Amino acid sequence: MESKKAKETILKSFHEKNNSHAFLIETNNINDCLADIVDIARQIECEVDGDEKCTCKICNLIRNNNNPDLLVLRRLEKDDKEEDKIKDIDISSKSKKIDTLKTEITTKQIDSLVNLFRTTPLVSKYQIYIIFEADKLNRNAANKLLKFLEEPNANIIGFFITDTFDKMISTIVSRCEIYNFRYGTDNILSLLDITDKEYEKYYDQTMKLVYDLEHSKSYELMVNSKSLSKKERDDLLFIIKLLKKIYTIKFENIVYNYYNNLEFANQVLDAIDIDDVSILSKRILLIDEILSDLSKNSIRDMSINKLFIKWV
Ligand SMILES: [Zn+2]
Repeated sequence: MESKKAKETILKSFHEKNNSHAFLIETNNINDCLADIVDIARQIECEVDGDEKCTCKICNLIRNNNNPDLLVLRRLEKDDKEEDKIKDIDISSKSKKIDTLKTEITTKQIDSLVNLFRTTPLVSKYQIYIIFEADKLNRNAANKLLKFLEEPNANIIGFFITDTFDKMISTIVSRCEIYNFRYGTDNILSLLDITDKEYEKYYDQTMKLVYDLEHSKSYELMVNSKSLSKKERDDLLFIIKLLKKIYTIKFENIVYNYYNNLEFANQVLDAIDIDDVSILSKRILLIDEILSDLSKNSIRDMSINKLFIKWV
């Protein structure tokens, strides 16, 4: 789901008082996502209406990283003291390289969190904790946290942010409401990850191929022998790669609802009639196979005909 929409949905659930108490946020941009989650926390806690420019006491405390009821946990980096990290909600250091360090979020950090949240909120409505890179919770730390999740206290809200969903500990996942926050796809070029020039050169041909595959019988699409120059082969390779992206986008949209509310994505999404995930994944695998054939210099006709014949 596009981040703005996901954010609105979460805030709405609080306004309507049917919110969850634990959220797992999967994202493709962990730093922007943290900024958005801190802003959600600010709006939930705000004494007035949550407006961006609100200057109430709570909003100001949060903007100054000074609200005792909002905690962000990050994994420790080299030389960090654990007590330094518990209240660190510095969201300005976007370029900070943290991926190279193999550290975890530790049991000790979770103990501090549990202790700090033992009492009722000090100044706000809720006590909110945000676990940044929640996939880095070590197993013992995660087990300690489960207590919060298993005996939900109406005043305690947790957000787990990850860009590596498949590394999340399943006992945490199963206790959270899950959202996807997608960033950066503000136009079709970034959606397809191609340049202006590539778009001009290949997009129409690729969409025509999508149309043909969706609407023609396979034998109608079969091609006759013709040897290709290297340039033609490269063009063909690009078109098939783009074809794979388009089917992957369709697949991701059905499974994760990533692009549904992006108007510019509709052309890509509507071009494909099939909504069956298993068929879409078979098609993506087949395209992969054809790409591998083509890159191994096999005969172009055979590969392309194989695509048409095996298309489901
Ligand atoms: Zn406010």
